[in-house]
Amino acid sequence: MIKENLAKIKAEIGEDVCLVAVSKTKPAQDILEAYTAGQRHFGENYVQELLLKQAELPKDICWHMIGHLQSNKVKQIAPFVHLIHGIDSFKLLKEVNKEAAKHNRVIDCLLQVHVAQEETKFGFDMQEIQALLQDGSLRELKNICIKGLMTMGSNTENMEQVKQEFLSVKTLFDECAKFQIPNLKCEIISMGMSGDYQLAMECGSNMVRVGSLIFGNRNYTN
Ligand SMILES: *Cc1c(COP(=O)(O)O)cnc(C)c1O
Repeated sequence: MIKENLAKIKAEIGEDVCLVAVSKTKPAQDILEAYTAGQRHFGENYVQELLLKQAELPKDICWHMIGHLQSNKVKQIAPFVHLIHGIDSFKLLKEVNKEAAKHNRVIDCLLQVHVAQEETKFGFDMQEIQALLQDGSLRELKNICIKGLMTMGSNTENMEQVKQEFLSVKTLFDECAKFQIPNLKCEIISMGMSGDYQLAMECGSNMVRVGSLIFGNRNYTN
């Protein structure tokens, strides 16, 4: 079923949107099935789980760290991570820069924007993103590149509300793209999951993170 699910979603989203297959809690065998069908971008939420899977699965997989990332765990994923979606503080960005330098890498990052109503969501608010980009110290982080923004819409049935949230992130993205900073290349808007990726694409998303629609429901939710 994984192969069929992927084919259906791929056909729907087209060539210009990157599909990140969210494989958290799913066994390596499921990932291999998707890999065999041609999928290369996978997203994980937990560092420990990501490390185990990275060690045993094909080395040309692009691993996306999509969950909340603690500073003290950055060093473990720094050698291989493809894109870190959940940057939510300048402190974390500095840590990624430090660990990337140790491996002579430039690690691509997305700034997580907090738009949802829920209190528990991580991320910068709109003003904080603008302030970060205006602050000259970003330029000194030569081992990171900010590739764009990531967000999670509110977990609600109210699609009109989610749409407004997505549209506000698109507006912020367009603002960010105006900044001239060497390590800022505003190219990616990562928004949309199984329940709202079509809406997210209508609002300008070009990277969707889809889990349950590909791999089936998870036994526990995150
Ligand atoms: C789990 C998760 C997803 C995928 O969720 P589905 O509803 O299963 O598609 C996407 N993004 C993040 C940040 C997640 O934690």
